[in-house]
Amino acid sequence: MVARKTRVAPCNFREGGDRAVIPIALPLLAADEADAAREAVLSGWVSQGPQVAAFERDFASYMGAHYACAVSNCTTALHVALAALGIGPGDEVITVSHSFIATVNCIRYCGAIPVLVDIDPATYNIDPQRVAEAITPRTRAILAVHQMGMPCDLAALVALADRHAIDLIEDAACAVGSQICINGTWKLVGKPHGRIACFSFHPRKVITTGEGGMLTTADADLDHKFRLLRQHGMSVPDTVRHGSSQVIFEDYLMVGYNYRMTDIQAAIGRKQLERLSDIVLRRRAIAARYAELLGNIEGLRLPEEPEWARSNWQSFCVRLSDRLDQGRVMQNLLDKGIATRRGIMCAHREPAYAGNRPRHGLQRSEHAQDHSILLPIYAQMKEEDIERVAQALRDEI
Ligand SMILES: *Cc1c(COP(=O)(O)O)cnc(C)c1O
Repeated sequence: MVARKTRVAPCNFREGGDRAVIPIALPLLAADEADAAREAVLSGWVSQGPQVAAFERDFASYMGAHYACAVSNCTTALHVALAALGIGPGDEVITVSHSFIATVNCIRYCGAIPVLVDIDPATYNIDPQRVAEAITPRTRAILAVHQMGMPCDLAALVALADRHAIDLIEDAACAVGSQICINGTWKLVGKPHGRIACFSFHPRKVITTGEGGMLTTADADLDHKFRLLRQHGMSVPDTVRHGSSQVIFEDYLMVGYNYRMTDIQAAIGRKQLERLSDIVLRRRAIAARYAELLGNIEGLRLPEEPEWARSNWQSFCVRLSDRLDQGRVMQNLLDKGIATRRGIMCAHREPAYAGNRPRHGLQRSEHAQDHSILLPIYAQMKEEDIERVAQALRDEI
């Protein structure tokens, strides 16, 4: 039988036409990742096994974290984080509405109550002042997002959490490779500064394993709970049983989940981690170039990086003046072959949350969603494409 060649269309080309569209994002995957995946497949161990363990070691060491636990994605990482802290029905968790919906959903998975607070319009991140105002006797935790890779104000949030003896969890889904300066020292986000940090390796993030997530913590007991929760509450993981010369029976210590990462994904992740610092450098250079090309334009507000933050620029979000129509600008850019996305969603405006009237004002979150657009940014982006995007945007303003 003759194998038929199928043409695979690269995802950055528009169907039905040969004009290249500048995509909103593009993962940087190459032969190293393909070879690593191939080796994992041929090794005979494809589920959670030695590659996952090695990825966890590599990741913990890169971050300077005591422990790292790999899971199937960041949504499951967030669920595991809250479950490991024992957050349950009646507990309140303070977070933002202005985030990908997984942030709020994971609170609901635990039966807890999401208390949504507004953002700082300059950084699009949770406003610590609003958090302080939202704390009640039922508050158990703050779930702080490093939105679009920009570190949120951890110094203020850690102080708040300590003062009220509540837990701080970092949703660092977008923030792998971002840095923050606390007490005069620069550290990677997710070392972690709160009790737990959660990362995503979805292709829209800065490094990818297709789907994938990671939890970091300095607390050995929490790390132990993560490992039980991700694998059905099983007392002895199958890697241990497999390698043992003695027969071992496992126990199921709690109602856990199947949130495992596969060895194929982990093998890819280890190669991605090797590229991370270069990718972040490149993204920072692109963001700086956008800032040069788009600075000082009336009707356009650029994202602000506080002096204590170094973003990985997972997204580059610009605020349009109120007189411009967001959808119109996006359509005009698309007609010129430039993909954009609207600003970050607000969970409280979605039908899934229609029954929950927010306790606190979320006007800044709504304004950000309605008046911001995300511009293309990815490590392989060419200078001419950066200029093309900037020129096309200037033409709209
Ligand atoms: C992408 C994202 C998530 C979910 O990550 P997955 O790995 O896709 O589950 C959670 N929180 C934020 C802020 C995100 O951007």
